[in-house]
Amino acid sequence: MSTTNQPNKFTRFVRNNAALLLMIFCIVAIVTVVLVVSLTDNGPDSVISKPVENPNGGGDGDGGSTQKPTPAPSVKVFFQSPLDYTAVSMGYTDGTDVLFVFNSTLDTWQSHKGVDLVAEEGAEVSAMLGGTVVEVSESYGMGNVVKIDHGNNVVATYASLADVNVVQGQVVNQGDKIGTVGTTASYEFADGAHLHLEICVDGKAVDPMPYVNGQVEVEKDTSTK
Ligand SMILES: [Zn+2]
Repeated sequence: MSTTNQPNKFTRFVRNNAALLLMIFCIVAIVTVVLVVSLTDNGPDSVISKPVENPNGGGDGDGGSTQKPTPAPSVKVFFQSPLDYTAVSMGYTDGTDVLFVFNSTLDTWQSHKGVDLVAEEGAEVSAMLGGTVVEVSESYGMGNVVKIDHGNNVVATYASLADVNVVQGQVVNQGDKIGTVGTTASYEFADGAHLHLEICVDGKAVDPMPYVNGQVEVEKDTSTK
């Protein structure tokens, strides 16, 4: 009897205090988990956050630390002429001016949101700055057209091209050949072979000549090398 009595007592004790035992076990388990997690979290964090190069904040540019290649965003670069041109056959008007230019092909005075740079047919047209070709198209009025996003919200339109040497999405460097001068812009056919060039800043046409003359300096877009 006594042998069967012992387990009964023990079982009864466990049964009576099961809830309490379970609760204690749970608390111990939770505390253990929390401790382990917080320790493993803290460990690597504090190890990593300590040696970050905050102490030498003075040597930003000239330090030449070989660790990070990115901190060189302040590289400036000038736009350059897209071709060797002999004359500007049609100048720029922004359309809001009273000034219009005479279009000898259409025989009308009209606004001209670009410049026509005269050159021999077949003369090389190059990218005025590095960038990404966002459009290659052909239209009756403007002929073969290449649009390049040069970064800094500047988009250049190279029109009246004979040949086109780039494709949409292509990344170009400054000076890369994008096409050749032609007579494909029917609206400006009477001008002969020329490059019709437009520059848009923030989607608004501006006078391209300062860009052509190399007077416009922008931060080099480091995302397109
Ligand atoms: Zn034009």
